[in-house]
Amino acid sequence: MKKIAVLGSSGSIGQSTLAVARSLKHKFKVVALSVNSDIVKLKQQIDEFHPRLVCVKDKQCAYKLRAGVGPSVKIFCGQDGLSELVKDKQIEQVMFAISGAAALGPLISAICAGKDIALANKEAIVMAGPMIMRLAEIHKVKILPVDSEQSAIWQSLGGQSQANVRRVYLTASGGPLRTLALNKFKQVSIEKVLRHPRWRMGKKITVDSATLMNKGLELLEAMFLFNLGVEKIKILIHPEALIHSMVEFNDGVIMAQLSATDMRIPIQYALSYPERLENSLAGIDFYRLDKLHFAKPDLKKFPSITLAYQAARDLGTMPAVLNAANEESVNNFLNKRIDFLTIPKIVDKVMRVHQKKAEPSLEDIMSADAWAREEAVRLAH
Ligand code: MG
Repeated sequence: MKKIAVLGSSGSIGQSTLAVARSLKHKFKVVALSVNSDIVKLKQQIDEFHPRLVCVKDKQCAYKLRAGVGPSVKIFCGQDGLSELVKDKQIEQVMFAISGAAALGPLISAICAGKDIALANKEAIVMAGPMIMRLAEIHKVKILPVDSEQSAIWQSLGGQSQANVRRVYLTASGGPLRTLALNKFKQVSIEKVLRHPRWRMGKKITVDSATLMNKGLELLEAMFLFNLGVEKIKILIHPEALIHSMVEFNDGVIMAQLSATDMRIPIQYALSYPERLENSLAGIDFYRLDKLHFAKPDLKKFPSITLAYQAARDLGTMPAVLNAANEESVNNFLNKRIDFLTIPKIVDKVMRVHQKKAEPSLEDIMSADAWAREEAVRLAH
């Protein structure tokens, strides 16, 4: 039995993780859960999985929760509480299913406590990738990717050295606006942006899928997770989203990973690795498959990709700035303060004025993050 913590258990990846744990009860025991503020869902999950440790965003939520759960459940609060929770002796692996920069502190804390990581959050690794990978090496911790593309690259690499890699094809479904004309982008509604054709996910990542910033963040994520140069990574539009990414080796051989478009598949593998466990999830029926399509991304429609390549070449604090300016701008779009086209425009402006620091400490990264958020909010007015 592997004892796991699921951070962000009320979100889309969190719930899918619990579905995997539910279907493989003899393999995984959920010992810790965290949510932001959805304590109703958390209470249901506590009743089902009986974790000993939980975390919520603030004292008020903790107080409300305390009334409904027994004394054997220890309740933590806030980001500091989460950083404390992940160190607990019982926990063997931590699923990071929280979205946004808020995962960085708890992630570093879990790595330093020697916990293996299943990483669904991409923002933390984008912000502080080199530092996180260094810490994981020092503490002999495995970082197992959950993001479907990173899981695909990891599986396609099959443990081979990056020196053997000619290129990586990072595939993208193209998101909900792939076929929409550029002149319609300015007026596009939040509802349309949130209607993703292939994946059902949280709001932040769905907006990122519409701007293709999600792919930009994944470019940075892949660079750091697999120690690849930016010039080796090519983004490839593949609307069917069956090939989750591919690795081309020096001899021209390409390994691809295919599976149904269901996040429970990469989640399960990140938890069960190196074992491959049976499940009842859908497979791919090749007899019913007609065609697979591929295309170059349209950089005029999706300038976020160019911005991400820029940040990937600049490195230092620039990826953190890209991420922070984007996160704030996505919020501003969801709160109707800016239109869709303004999201990448603001990210671009913030990146242009940023004074990059080359070998940043954690403090440098955090202050670049805070600065970029302020700039992005200021530019939205
Ligand atoms: Mg992905």
